Amino acid sequence: MKYQAIKGMSDIFYPEVAVWQEIEGIARKCLSSYGYKEIRTPALEDTAIFVRGIGDTTDIVTKEMYTFKDRKDRSLTLRPEGTAPIVRAYIEHGFDRAGSELKLFYIGPMFRSERPQKGRSRQFHQIGAEVFGSASAYSDAEIIIQLDDMLKLFGLSGCVFKLNSLGCKKDKETFAAVLRDYLKDKKANLCDDCKTRIDKNVFRMLDCKSEGCIKVMRDAPSVAASLCSPCASHFDKVKKILNKMNISFKEEKNLVRGLDYYTGTVFEISHPSLGAQDALGAGGRYNNLVHDLGGSDTGAIGYALGMERLVIALNKKPQSEKNVLYIATMGDDAKLEALKISQEIRKALSITVLTDIKEASLKSQMRSADKNEASLALIIGEDEIKLGTITLRDMATKEQVSVGMSDIVSEIKKRIK
Ligand code: AMP
Repeated sequence: MKYQAIKGMSDIFYPEVAVWQEIEGIARKCLSSYGYKEIRTPALEDTAIFVRGIGDTTDIVTKEMYTFKDRKDRSLTLRPEGTAPIVRAYIEHGFDRAGSELKLFYIGPMFRSERPQKGRSRQFHQIGAEVFGSASAYSDAEIIIQLDDMLKLFGLSGCVFKLNSLGCKKDKETFAAVLRDYLKDKKANLCDDCKTRIDKNVFRMLDCKSEGCIKVMRDAPSVAASLCSPCASHFDKVKKILNKMNISFKEEKNLVRGLDYYTGTVFEISHPSLGAQDALGAGGRYNNLVHDLGGSDTGAIGYALGMERLVIALNKKPQSEKNVLYIATMGDDAKLEALKISQEIRKALSITVLTDIKEASLKSQMRSADKNEASLALIIGEDEIKLGTITLRDMATKEQVSVGMSDIVSEIKKRIK
């Protein structure tokens, strides 16, 4: 029996994992510099959090969640996204009652049972940020500025920011009614999914990819006309701030999100390298979610970036490790000495030290050193043990020098980058 990873879920390992580590490092640094604190929530949550939070008629909840009963018959779900669990944690730890602004970020796996393809998997990873306790247009602008900043730090150019506003709960209801009215005599031209979406999830029709629906929705009324005056001026203000900060964006009147909790500003970042699945990340305001999940009224906004898509868009070659030192040994005394000296070197210098303690010839140990991309090697054999020396070899030039045991750390230090 040969076991395989579950379809749509992949192993990420060396050397590709180096790109992931680099992305995570840059994200942590950038988000911290804006005052975000990391939060790590469990992968499993009470199913009700997602049904209530994301919406019981959304694609995620109706088709994509990994939901199962535990041994005590409780319904649990592997998180399909990060926001609802963070809101659960925010309320559970009483932050909503404190009322002050709180910025949180997360990096971790999410789970959705979608049809796997390029840029779409069943376990995928997101970097996300959430700002609680502010309903200001400046918060909308700042989170987009932070995201723009971070994408540039990743080294990614060519991202397109699309922006829209869905308005408040009331505006969304008005717009839904306007759309339903527009669609009432066009049902025959819609795909089967959209025929049921009219009543259940009418906004999703705006980003349906089937040809008939695209045609019908081309002339659909835009959400802008349904915005109340405070929501319209909030959105105008966000756009003005972004313009003043030189953040380029495209206003996209049909941009909606697949999750019910969004209100007000919504945005999506796309990248041309991604093909059909071109959304690199998305976000928006969700001013009702904290209240809907049992907390007090709290203005909030957030986004999530897909890491698999980020890796595709960056198209970076993983960098090999810079300083690898390989210790080749001959005989028991040499192996013991190698274990000792490698501890000393690791303590003194931040480099990778590999000790070869197999019973292999020097030639095969040097081959292993090359395979491990070592830049330097130490050779310890019986002669070296007798003389209290170590042979230091430059793996590129093949030059060798004999060094006294006590000088080895300083001699390595001279030769590393
Ligand atoms: P969402 O939570 O649906 O707003 O998605 C935010 C981002 O997560 C998307 O723009 C994608 O980059 C990423 N994402 C969502 N679903 C998947 C998936 N099934 N596979 C890979 N990335 C995904």
